[in-house]
Amino acid sequence: MQILKIDHLGIAVNSIDEGKNFWSDVLGLAFEGAETVEAQKVTTAFFPVGESEVELLESTSPDGPVAKYIEKRGQGIQHVAFRVANIEEALEELKAKGIRLIDEKPRMGAGGAKIAFLHPKATNGVLVELCER
Ligand code: ZN
Repeated sequence: MQILKIDHLGIAVNSIDEGKNFWSDVLGLAFEGAETVEAQKVTTAFFPVGESEVELLESTSPDGPVAKYIEKRGQGIQHVAFRVANIEEALEELKAKGIRLIDEKPRMGAGGAKIAFLHPKATNGVLVELCER
């Protein structure tokens, strides 16, 4: 498996508009627009930082995964995403190593990326996303 870089940090927020106050207005990161991924019940907003990005995640529904995360743990870093050269290959390799996966097959994420999540029980408690763009 070839990990190319940290693609982005996913941060769960109550409101992207509110989140923008800090990430964009205070830190001066460029706001590249928001996108809703209905299948995940989430609206995402990306702020490029050099080679990586900050992704703010706002739930579109009280029963969405981001809403549940905030309910349990509050706002904050929800996942770390690594960009891989070939996501199918990476998932096969992890499966062969006995790593528990949330997504056995990649699905479509924001920006047309192919994404898949690993189970936090297999990663010292960190929700890890793989993505290929
Ligand atoms: Zn993400």
